[in-house]
Amino acid sequence: MIVGRSLVLPPLSPSGPQNRVVMSMQPKPWPEVPAATARVARKAFRKGSLAIRARDELGAWYADGDFAAAYGVRGAPGMSPAQLAMVTVLQFCENLTDRQAADAVRGRLDWKYALGLPLDDEGFDFPVLSEFRSRLAAAGLERALFELLLDRLKELGLVRPGGTQRTDSTHVLGAIRDLNRLELAGETVRAALETLAAAAPGWLAAVIDASWQEVYGQRIDGWRLPASETRRQELARQYGRDGYHLLEAALAPGAPGWLRELPAVEVLRQVWVQQYTRDQDGTVNRREAGLESGLPPGRSRITSPYDTGARYSQKRGKEWRGYKVHLTETCTHPGEQAADARPGAALNLITNVATTAAAVPDAAMTGPVHDMLAAAGLTPGEHAADAGYAGADLLLDARARGITLLAPLAVPSSPQARAGGYTADMFTIDWQNQQVTCPQGAASRKWSACRTGTRDGFIAGFPAATCRSCPARDKCTTSTRQGRQLFLRPREICEAVTVIRASQSAQQWKDRYAIRAGVEATIRQATAVTGIRTARYRGLPKTSLEHAAAAAINLIRLDAWHTARPLDRTRTTCLQRLTLTTTA
Ligand code: SF4
Repeated sequence: MIVGRSLVLPPLSPSGPQNRVVMSMQPKPWPEVPAATARVARKAFRKGSLAIRARDELGAWYADGDFAAAYGVRGAPGMSPAQLAMVTVLQFCENLTDRQAADAVRGRLDWKYALGLPLDDEGFDFPVLSEFRSRLAAAGLERALFELLLDRLKELGLVRPGGTQRTDSTHVLGAIRDLNRLELAGETVRAALETLAAAAPGWLAAVIDASWQEVYGQRIDGWRLPASETRRQELARQYGRDGYHLLEAALAPGAPGWLRELPAVEVLRQVWVQQYTRDQDGTVNRREAGLESGLPPGRSRITSPYDTGARYSQKRGKEWRGYKVHLTETCTHPGEQAADARPGAALNLITNVATTAAAVPDAAMTGPVHDMLAAAGLTPGEHAADAGYAGADLLLDARARGITLLAPLAVPSSPQARAGGYTADMFTIDWQNQQVTCPQGAASRKWSACRTGTRDGFIAGFPAATCRSCPARDKCTTSTRQGRQLFLRPREICEAVTVIRASQSAQQWKDRYAIRAGVEATIRQATAVTGIRTARYRGLPKTSLEHAAAAAINLIRLDAWHTARPLDRTRTTCLQRLTLTTTA
């Protein structure tokens, strides 16, 4: 892009975060329900409602003081954060938008009852909810909505440590567009230009010319980009040159120092580090996949300039960019005594919610989930999860914490296992003499300690000459120059794996493990009721806060339990009912 022609840019917008009103919080006790509100609400809701029952059964589970860290001590007093927290949870119970939730506070009698508001209360403008979430996320209180309700449920004895809990994860689509690498580069420059045009219009007008408006005036869409590969490569380099030009100008000694502090400029810098390189003569090159080129792996690559926490991942053929949420809930084996001890009633409550970037594997969350449950005072005695959460180390680690991890060890996936050949468990290990005997009776010659990734172990090597002349060589190794190399975990892990595999093949273990499947229904409920699979907000903190609204699911389940109403009624069509009638 040629810098030269003058460009007129609009002045700084008056509505930016820098203009946010400074607010304080003066803790007030949770208001009693005014007599008039109670009278009218009970007449209007003769059978009650979730909001009314939540208030009656749980009382006040949020207090203003719980959110003090999110507010200053000076400034105009804002709305009660405890009330806003309750509005947020009720909002997720019904999957309402901010505007609908603010309308409900103004117009719904059961919400006024739950919040302890007089009938003529005018409520608040809907952006207050967004501001509240931003404050919680900035203060690191994104889990507070969930944890405070859980504390109340513990006080009431509805959740307890011990017993069985189960966990599963599901994908969460980020609140961003899917961008390919070319779109990402163009959109990142455009995002930086938009921010700079709002924050420093005069400075930007001197840095770019009118031709930039033609390229970056509209969002970068794949269908407007050239189809030819050559022209796409050239466009990618052009984006690269423009990005470097903008960065150099923003980071130049004469530029205002605060420009480099702008998040969009920092994102541009990070994306360019990941996506481009520059030769000494200034030639811009795009990084390509592969170790030499240095393009980072998907798990650490920024996928959108608007949400730098979102990551690309895929699982069972499903590809997505965004996050992953892990839900843990209580459950009871058939025939065992439930924690609530109410005959015929199953009250499974969510005990933990953990949100991560999409690329974090489930196995990396087994330990953190146990940590979070321990911190909440809800360590389970038995924890059911799928094979993604299992591993020899994880099973032993859980055992050391007093938890039986009810998760199947993954079947071996080595090339030999896939081809039906000799897998590691077919070899006999003599730990004393550090020697391994193969299924053909040959003994290993080498034994050395090694470390692969984070896993310690040993390598046992067989003589090349023995393996070359072995009749079963095809079942064992593909190497033509070396003998079979066997990676072994430390003795206690190998022996534990043998015992665990044997126990997991027993019918009794399979019957107990069947309880895990129930968590799929919880994921389904979270998806259908709170829309958990599509992020409303951007960034990990706010997405975590949204998922902490799993508190809403606990409220819904508690309400169904109080009213003895099934959570999911089986629906039958008229035709099915007719069939039932005629066959009766
Ligand atoms: S290839 Fe080597 S290690 Fe494998 S079975 Fe034959 S002799 Fe044993």
